[in-house]
Amino acid sequence: MPSKHTVKVKPNINGITSVDIKQKKNVTLIDTDNEIVFEFGGPWGVTAMMIGFPLLMFYLWGCLQFYRGKLVLPLEGELWSQIIKEAWPTWYATKIYLMFCLYELFLAYFMPGPIVKGAPVASLNGKKLDYLCNGVMSWYVTLITSYILHRYGYFRLTEIIDNLGPLMTVSIITGFTITFTVYIVTIIQGNQYRMSGNIVYDLFMGAALNPRLGRVDLKMFAEIRVPWVVLFYISVSAAVKEYEMFGYVSATMAFMVLAHFLYVNACAKGEECIPTTWDMTYEKFGFMLIFWNFAGVPFTYCLGTLYLHLSSIDNGRPIQHSPAWTFFCYALLISGYYIWDTANSQKNRFRMTLNGTYIPRSTFPQLPWGTLKNPSYIKTKQGNLILTGGWWGYARKIHYSADLMMAFSWGFICGFNTPIPYFYPAFFVFVLTHRVTRDMERCARKYGKDWDEYCRQVPYIFIPGVY
Ligand code: NDP
Repeated sequence: MPSKHTVKVKPNINGITSVDIKQKKNVTLIDTDNEIVFEFGGPWGVTAMMIGFPLLMFYLWGCLQFYRGKLVLPLEGELWSQIIKEAWPTWYATKIYLMFCLYELFLAYFMPGPIVKGAPVASLNGKKLDYLCNGVMSWYVTLITSYILHRYGYFRLTEIIDNLGPLMTVSIITGFTITFTVYIVTIIQGNQYRMSGNIVYDLFMGAALNPRLGRVDLKMFAEIRVPWVVLFYISVSAAVKEYEMFGYVSATMAFMVLAHFLYVNACAKGEECIPTTWDMTYEKFGFMLIFWNFAGVPFTYCLGTLYLHLSSIDNGRPIQHSPAWTFFCYALLISGYYIWDTANSQKNRFRMTLNGTYIPRSTFPQLPWGTLKNPSYIKTKQGNLILTGGWWGYARKIHYSADLMMAFSWGFICGFNTPIPYFYPAFFVFVLTHRVTRDMERCARKYGKDWDEYCRQVPYIFIPGVY
């Protein structure tokens, strides 16, 4: 039976600990991830999602834009004629969206940053790929560039919220175009991996595991350089607009800017932790990741911001809550962020240390308890170590709970007049629950009895002592 171990640590010159992983030598890497499992209801389920996601995005946007958050009947004819008119893709919106994406790609290619090794890729005989982690530099350069463009009148940031409908449509078209392009190029190159043989299902899940454009990893680029940055700029745009209309930025709109800043900043400052995450090592680059990152995340997670923006126009002043409620929302956001940030960094740094790829960084902010010293763990027969110390001793998916705390705070700050700002937290509950099931089934297959032992030692999934 596996037992609970304490990692042997040897301090390096910076006082940062590294796991002694000599025990990992001679471990054979088995490609347990090359197993085809039909998920999401198989081909029919994913077909419904590929049609349903864009329609849902238009529907929610239309209900907010034209009915101020009332959920009208989905087949209401007026709704769709207005959506077609107001969200029709324009050249202007196409230029804004594509130039932004190309600029981010340019930065991802040329900005300096450390190169981090990913986890061993079983399908590449255990090779570890290089990931150029220049997210922080790209993020700061993006902030400076947007300030200059706005300040000197080349591109006023308010254009984003004023063109939200066309921008969303352009993002949807971009999501589909990239999905088909990457799929076709991957098949032509013969780089497909873990294919089911059903073309619709494979389009949805993707064909390529690690597609690259030169030294840019496209999956990592799509996950962190586009969605959260666009989301952040939608909120900044609404805040600037609010400032221009009322002469101040309300606590509610400032909340959205802060919330989205924290997310995008976390992705940038902790980018070196991402190469060893599940999305990088397991998921392929298909519609699910591409569409959701290029279109779904920014243009559905922003619905709260859009609601605050439209309400301020309707009411002639921004939405304000009691100081107690505002404080509660901020406290929920910040405490959720703290747990989320430190839980992710504890596990990822533990894994990176194990992998021999850990690099200490001084990116801002480095939070207390973000790196564990001397953590407990379970040594699995497969070779990996499962962390049972730090936050991971309290619950197996504590980082999801923390992410949900943040997601609900994004809804709470909008009040309760319409359910639409709660789309993100509600959808996120569904996504994370499904992700937990997928991940736990996969880990149970991968680690067998060692996983049972982990579940015995850490019995709670989301909330310590409750569930
Ligand atoms: P993880 O990065 O946590 O990946 C799970 C994997 O981590 C498992 O498959 C296993 O991989 C490994 N693992 C699990 N438990 C342990 C442990 N105790 N010790 C060591 N390794 C372990 O999950 P996600 O990729 O799903 O999430 C990463 C973050 O991204 C989360 O904070 C999540 O909230 C966030 N997220 C946000 C989304 C959004 O839209 N806002 C969407 C999805 C995620 P292995 O096989 O290598 O052992």
